[in-house]
Amino acid sequence: MMQQYLRLKMQHPDTLLLYRMGDFYELFFDDAERAARLLDITLTTRGQSGGQPIKMAGVPFHALEPYLAKLVKLGESAVICEQIGDPATAKGPVERAVARIVTPGTLTDAALLDDRAEALLMAVQVHRGQLGLAWLNLANGQFRLTETTPENLVAQLERLRPAEALLPESLKLPALEVRVPAIRRLADWQFDAKTAEQLLTSHFGVRDLSGFGVEGMPTALAAAAALFDYARATQRQTLDHVTGIQVERDGDYLRLDAHTRRNLEISETLRGEPAPTLLSLLDVCETSMGSRWLRHCLHHPLADRHACRQRHGAVAALLGDAGDGPMEAVRSALRPVADIERIATRIALRSVRPRELASLRESLAALDGIRAPLPQHDSDLIRRLADDMATPVQTLETLHAAVAAEPGVQVRDGGVIADGFDAELDELRAIQTNCGAFLLELEARERERTGIPSLKVEFNRVHGFYIEVTHAHTSKVPDDYRRRQTMKNAERYVTPELKAFEDKALSAQERALAREKLLYDSLIDALLPQVPQLQRIARAIATLDGLNAFAQIAARHGYAMPQLVEDAIIDIRGGRHPVVERQVDNFIANDTQLSSTRRMLLVTGPNMGGKSTYMRQVALIVLLAHCGAFVPASSAVIGPVDAIFTRIGASDDLASGRSTFMVEMTEAAAILNGATERSLVLMDEIGRGTSTFDGMALAFSIARHLLDKNRSFSLFSTHYFELTRLGVEYPECANVHLGAVEHGHSIVFLHAVEEGPASQSYGIEVAALAGIPGAVVRDAKRRLRALENREIASGPQDDLFAALPEPEPSAVSHPALVQLADLDPDNMSPREALEALYALRRQL
Ligand code: ADP
Repeated sequence: MMQQYLRLKMQHPDTLLLYRMGDFYELFFDDAERAARLLDITLTTRGQSGGQPIKMAGVPFHALEPYLAKLVKLGESAVICEQIGDPATAKGPVERAVARIVTPGTLTDAALLDDRAEALLMAVQVHRGQLGLAWLNLANGQFRLTETTPENLVAQLERLRPAEALLPESLKLPALEVRVPAIRRLADWQFDAKTAEQLLTSHFGVRDLSGFGVEGMPTALAAAAALFDYARATQRQTLDHVTGIQVERDGDYLRLDAHTRRNLEISETLRGEPAPTLLSLLDVCETSMGSRWLRHCLHHPLADRHACRQRHGAVAALLGDAGDGPMEAVRSALRPVADIERIATRIALRSVRPRELASLRESLAALDGIRAPLPQHDSDLIRRLADDMATPVQTLETLHAAVAAEPGVQVRDGGVIADGFDAELDELRAIQTNCGAFLLELEARERERTGIPSLKVEFNRVHGFYIEVTHAHTSKVPDDYRRRQTMKNAERYVTPELKAFEDKALSAQERALAREKLLYDSLIDALLPQVPQLQRIARAIATLDGLNAFAQIAARHGYAMPQLVEDAIIDIRGGRHPVVERQVDNFIANDTQLSSTRRMLLVTGPNMGGKSTYMRQVALIVLLAHCGAFVPASSAVIGPVDAIFTRIGASDDLASGRSTFMVEMTEAAAILNGATERSLVLMDEIGRGTSTFDGMALAFSIARHLLDKNRSFSLFSTHYFELTRLGVEYPECANVHLGAVEHGHSIVFLHAVEEGPASQSYGIEVAALAGIPGAVVRDAKRRLRALENREIASGPQDDLFAALPEPEPSAVSHPALVQLADLDPDNMSPREALEALYALRRQL
């Protein structure tokens, strides 16, 4: 057996090999040690090899899935070896073979996959200055390619978030290595464009690949070769549900670089949590297909404005003129729909389970109900989706006829094929059901024949059928009774008649199970050609569910349909931040106007005044509009946009060992080098991470570059008041500020954006609000005053460090001061104020 094990293991030296032995999957040697550590299972030993005990660890076969889930989460892969020979007839060890290879990027099993997110396998190649990417979602068969420049690698990884990446052995990509949980190195020769053409033309059954538009992408094709080969090897079969390749080109989507995706908190907060984010707010989808569509959609805002408008039209139709559209009806019609997309894949991979087919049947039966309320006349897109959702009558009939109403879990336990589907199976089942009646009849007959009233005919798994007679009646037992077993106070017998019946019944059961297995296999054969149609239905449902979520959120929170126009303009009235507005009691809506004569807004105002919120809301509104969603505003008119760039907040990128300031400048560099006249740029407090003069100088020059060279639409917030001069010097730059007013000793933020620069920064008031001790706040105030009173010429440091005269210690506690501090001028009449003033003077 160990020889057999080692032969198998030799083919998978780097992957954990789980070797089926009876009721366990066992791991040996180093695998055992590693698995024991990763899975927290017991490490034991068994037998010896070369005089050393063999390390062993195992998991029970029925609990395999959760252990596999844990492994793939850790980025590990596993090779599963099953017994394929029959233990009863095997000479020596039962034959075993690799049944499947589970890797983080090739999951298709519902138990291992996250419902709401995709697990992608990606292959990466860099050749002659081009980055080629190929990625496959094995769970739905989508296979895509793109080619771009290597600088875009991180952005692509942030967008696609592959679960596993394949790299040529000689390619070093540190940026990828810190971002992808599982990396597998393959031989360089496996990345070959010629091989890809051969592999793929034969897979798709076409003469060449020109129909897929992949020409001129040799690097991406090279990646595709390695990817496709690897995916097939893990599944141990052809991938029938992969029916095409889609090519993505730069320019299909609005560009969002990696920082922007993170900064805008699209599907993850800056802390890496799933909520509250744009996705968590919008995801009111009924199906997990819809949730996945939505996640993809938010990360892929469409550059194609026609497609965006089509989605807007569909959302409007679902919403209805007065919020009275069919969205609730659509929502409840979608409720019974299972994950058709993943079930279709499992049909293609022949690993579909009986209960999945039953839920496919319920889902297909629900299609008429989903189509019924759709406003097909009001939207082309909805009409197309409805067409795609036409009930596949034949498939549905097959499923009704073949699959039991409530099928068993496993085919090998039976009860999966419906009664009436197959005459032979029905007959075999009838023998088993008639069993009970026959036994009762036999019992009655034998009681009469022998005159033993307590005689019983029974069955148990170990001994089969028997007639039981208590010892008291042993003398009356007829000659044809053969003793089968002796009990404490009874004797068990068989008769030739009972034995013959037993043979028939047991073999009927076995034959019925074998028949079911056969029928199930041919059912899958019959369903295989339907996979593309099921995939089409799944995609339509996912899209409808996602658009319906847009409609529901629009109704719930008062969103408006954005208008996409061809002029260079962003004109938002009553805009809100979709996520922050849900978290505060009273969100203040704000307008934003940008045009070719007003390209930059220089945003000033106190810390906590709402600058970042305001800037992000503009970006999110533009993003949502390009996803086809309605937007949190009373109106929004948006011209062509090719990219959104953000430089927001300070965060150390520890993973790549860069300081806060370095991160800030790297992001700013990417913007200055990449933003065009059609880009939307958000710069939040640039220049913060260095000394005041450095920072101010940099911020100023960056703003000027954006105005002169990039000419992008920009929102530029700063705490350097000096920068507001830009608004005076450049007609295309306008100052706006977030208002605040002092109230008593405190400060109240108005969160309203007003024209003009802020008058004051209120930094010290904000510090006081945050709980900085009173003595520090008072000291800072005095120093600020001293700084403001002198000319800058002497350099601010001198003032800062000047030994300011300490206030008289007694002054702090003078009773007049205490009394003064207790006054509340806002709540005093003029008369009371005057009296208080006299009282204070008296005290002094
Ligand atoms: P800044 O960037 O100016 O320091 P933020 O944008 O981080 O300020 O906003 C600080 C807080 O103020 C937010 O967390 C939010 O609670 C609140 N806030 C911001 N904008 C608004 C608004 N328009 N209406 C109401 N509250 C707001």
